[in-house]
Formats: sequence, structure tokens, C-alpha cells
Amino acid sequence: MEEFVKSAIATGFTAYGVSSHAPLPFPTHWTLERTKVSAYLREIGALKEKYAGQIELYAGMEIDYLNEEQNPANEYFQGLPLDYRIGSVHLVYTDDGEIIDTDAGTEGFALLLRDYFQGNLRRLVERYYEASMRMVEAGGFDFIGHADKIFYNAEYCEPGVTEQGWYKELREGLFRRIAEKGLMLEINTKAYLSKGCFFPARQHFETIRRLGIPVVVNSDTHFPELVNAGRREALELLRASGFTSVCELHRGQWMEVEIDL
Ligand SMILES: [Zn+2]
Repeated sequence: MEEFVKSAIATGFTAYGVSSHAPLPFPTHWTLERTKVSAYLREIGALKEKYAGQIELYAGMEIDYLNEEQNPANEYFQGLPLDYRIGSVHLVYTDDGEIIDTDAGTEGFALLLRDYFQGNLRRLVERYYEASMRMVEAGGFDFIGHADKIFYNAEYCEPGVTEQGWYKELREGLFRRIAEKGLMLEINTKAYLSKGCFFPARQHFETIRRLGIPVVVNSDTHFPELVNAGRREALELLRASGFTSVCELHRGQWMEVEIDL
């Protein structure tokens, strides 16, 4: 974590949050284990002290919506002393009750689609959106992480699918509900360098602005040197889409900060 903090300071950040993938009820290679949560929070606490005066640091977690028990709103995650919570969907249930990770590479996703959904892309996307909607209903988080991230894999499997009526309805329905709930939405720049896209994609920025949804720009990077990757490009596109400000956490409060390029 310290490497990320040093990189954030070197890049000129005045505030920075670390958000590990929260524990799931089963082990994975990408989530923090529950037994390590207190060490995780202690380490951020120590970094806050060490770098006080140089940068404001925040302890966050990216919490999966898996089902009605395992989600950001549950008692366990609400009880953790976190500065902010991100609600994200990566996992969906198959018809047989198995759990698959939609956040796979394109080839891996195509295999999951074939093996677990008999190639029925619409059904898989619907599952992803059902989970996203239930997460928004349950609440318990500050902003929704990489909404519509599944679009990239879906487009790979069936080019043009994200512009079909049913897909548009799911996506816009989610945006509308986020707006009604008064939640913030992440503009995730993780794939900008490698794939040239944002999550959600840039063509939806105007819809998001029209709905009055406040946005937070994040790199979601797993590499210290990329803490700022894609940020400027995202801010430029947001401004071109009519946004004048983005949300940032300062002195423990979310605030609208003018886009200043
Ligand atoms: Zn994620």
C-alpha cells in the first residue's frame, strides 16, 4: 500500500483512498481474507499518520454484491471503520446455483458464457444487471464501482449487443435508479491504457450528467505507477459531456470539486 501512497504523492494527489477487494464467503486469489481485515486497516492507519501533512489517506473497500447476505449493506461491512465503501458486481449465479466471475478476460468470459449459460448472452447480462440493481436497492456504499463493466466482454462475444433495446433498457434503468437513490457513480479508468475505454463507457457520460448523477474518477489500478492513469482523459471527456465538477473525499467529506485541467 505504501508504494501506492508514495506514487499518489509524487503524482500530486492531495487525497487518496486505498480499497482492497473485500472478503467473500469463500477464498479467491483476488479478495482480502476476513482474518486479514484488521491488519489491513491497521496498515492504512499507520500510513495515515506517517504521511499526514503530505496527503489525506482514506481506508476503503470494494465490496461485492453477491446475494442478500453478502453485500455492502450487511452488518459486517457496515460495522467496519471504513472511510468509504464501493459497491461492485463481478460475480453472478448460474441457473444451477454456481458462481461465475464475469470480470474475466474476453476469452475466459466467452467460455463461461458457453459452458454456464449455453451461449445465452442476454441471460448472463440480465443476471449481472439484476445483481447491480439489487445492490443499488440494498445500498450501504458510497459509489457504484465500474457500472456496466460487462459491456466489454459482451461486445467481444456479440458486437453491437450493447446498443440493442433490451441492453439499453437494463443500462439506463440502472443509471436512473442510481440517480433516484442519490448515489455517486465511478468513472473507472483502469482499462483506458490497455483497451481505450472507461467503465461505464464514454458514450453514456451525457446520460449520466442529464440524470444528475455525481461522479468519482478512479484508476482502480493494481500497479503503483498507474494511480493517475486515464484520469486526465476521463476528466476531459466528462467536461465535454457537460460536467463541471467531480466528487472527491476531503477532510472526511465527499465534495464536488471543479474540473480544472
Ligand atoms: Zn471491481
